[in-house]
Amino acid sequence: MDYMLLADKLFPHIHKTPEDILAQYPARQLPEGAKVTRMGPSPTGFMHLGNLYGALVDERLAHQSGGVFYLRIEDTDKKREVEGGVQTIIDAFSAFGLPFDEGATLDGERGDYGPYRQSQRAEIYQTFVKSLVQRGLAYPCFATEEELAAMRQQQEAAKENFGYYGKYAVWRDRPMEDIEAELAKGTPYVVRFRSEGSIEHKVKHEDLVKGKMEVTENDQDVVILKSDGIPTYHFAHVVDDHLMGTTVVVRGEEWLATLPVHLQLFRAMGWKAPKYAHTAQLMKIDEQTGSKRKLSKRKDPELALTFYNQQGYPAPSVLEYLMTLLNSNFEEWRRANPDKPMNDFPFSTKKMSGSGALFDIDKLGDVSKNVISRMTAEQVYDAVAAWSAHNDPDFHALFTREPDKSRAFLAIGRGGKKPRKDLALWSDVKPYMDFLFDELFQPDYTLPEHVSKDDAKAILTEFKAQFDPNDTPDGFFEKMKALAAQHGFAAETKAYKQNPDQYKGHVGDVSMVVRIAVAGRQNAPDMQSVMHIMGAEQVKARLEQCIAALG
Ligand code: GLU
Repeated sequence: MDYMLLADKLFPHIHKTPEDILAQYPARQLPEGAKVTRMGPSPTGFMHLGNLYGALVDERLAHQSGGVFYLRIEDTDKKREVEGGVQTIIDAFSAFGLPFDEGATLDGERGDYGPYRQSQRAEIYQTFVKSLVQRGLAYPCFATEEELAAMRQQQEAAKENFGYYGKYAVWRDRPMEDIEAELAKGTPYVVRFRSEGSIEHKVKHEDLVKGKMEVTENDQDVVILKSDGIPTYHFAHVVDDHLMGTTVVVRGEEWLATLPVHLQLFRAMGWKAPKYAHTAQLMKIDEQTGSKRKLSKRKDPELALTFYNQQGYPAPSVLEYLMTLLNSNFEEWRRANPDKPMNDFPFSTKKMSGSGALFDIDKLGDVSKNVISRMTAEQVYDAVAAWSAHNDPDFHALFTREPDKSRAFLAIGRGGKKPRKDLALWSDVKPYMDFLFDELFQPDYTLPEHVSKDDAKAILTEFKAQFDPNDTPDGFFEKMKALAAQHGFAAETKAYKQNPDQYKGHVGDVSMVVRIAVAGRQNAPDMQSVMHIMGAEQVKARLEQCIAALG
């Protein structure tokens, strides 16, 4: 067979050589040990938590080592592509603040290793396929869908492995006349790689996540170029990650099954394969069955990346939570370093678990409470203002009406060794502080058990006469003690506990009455701070409203 002639017949329009292309992709000039990683999402319009999970690994590996993290759009499957798919990808990652150093952008691209959209790289792939044909390592296959289906049936009946290999590789050694006849008829064809592998052989692989393993060599003549001249994932992965200088490929473990194909292709091309980190599936405990299962697009809204912002999860909380899933030692590090930025943590693929990571949304909430508790009131204010502008415009209007008041409220109990942890979501801010706004104030005047209506009214009336918005929290508490003593409540909780029969209740009940009147509920942060923010007029109005309601 004259392979040179065959290559020219299949690719008359390709005039470049692999050397021409390789010359356009010089080795990257990076410090020793710097890693180059990439995200290769397909623009299907749906970005899921697994994408972010992998992207965080990519981003950390690259930026921790002084390397490069880039975005490549894998749009070789036109059937799965949706309008605006690239925008969805870019928006999702920018919402989480994972900065790409280079790659596809909304209106083009940035970087010297492009094009970064696979659909724009047809000539590059075809140049390399042409050279494989010239070397006798790839050939056209004109088998139709029906023929392939019949082959499969035959294999099933004979209990043989499925696929295009051995005697089933019917176009592998066909004479030129047969090929020419099909080409003359215009029969569509794919190009297949001629595998010299055997399932009797094992290949050693050392995965950064899964560790050392042996995989079975590939004996299938896989398709590398589809009938529309666009490569399959296998071939595009090998060509792109080589040319773009990727040093570590982080991808889902579903790709482990075809890793032997990829290793084989790298070898045939004469290129060194990158390192691989095959990440475990994200699992959850099914609420109904109580057993572990994969997160599902249909059943689990939390699989979609858009879910987190819609619900009001801060992006840093989601990233920190994913880091707790990725590296088992992260939580310990966080406890020892509560104030350091997450990116100071020395992330390592060695600490990644090879088996499924268990996603637990309650745990995410706990992590988020800690993350928000470490923020300044200013940061929380800005984030809530931005979030509510889109997701809760009515609350946004109230929240930003007097910014200093909102900030002052958010500052209560913040900082210090034991900060308050009331907020897990930006949407939690509304129920936390809605009572401040008369428009949202819906009091529940249920009194503590030990307090009669008459006592409550008397306490509130007297407190109203003495109230000073500029008291200190201690000054306020002194007033509460005095009121307690006057109305038959113990001024000290301890005294009440020692002789409960001698008192109606204790000072805590008295201050609870004030809290109920002013905040309309039993839970609120430090009352004197709250009342200082509200100001005398609003506080007095609240006290009067409660006295009137008690009848
Ligand atoms: N386009 C592939 C996917 O969406 C990327 C896999 C990879 O990162 O290599 O699954």
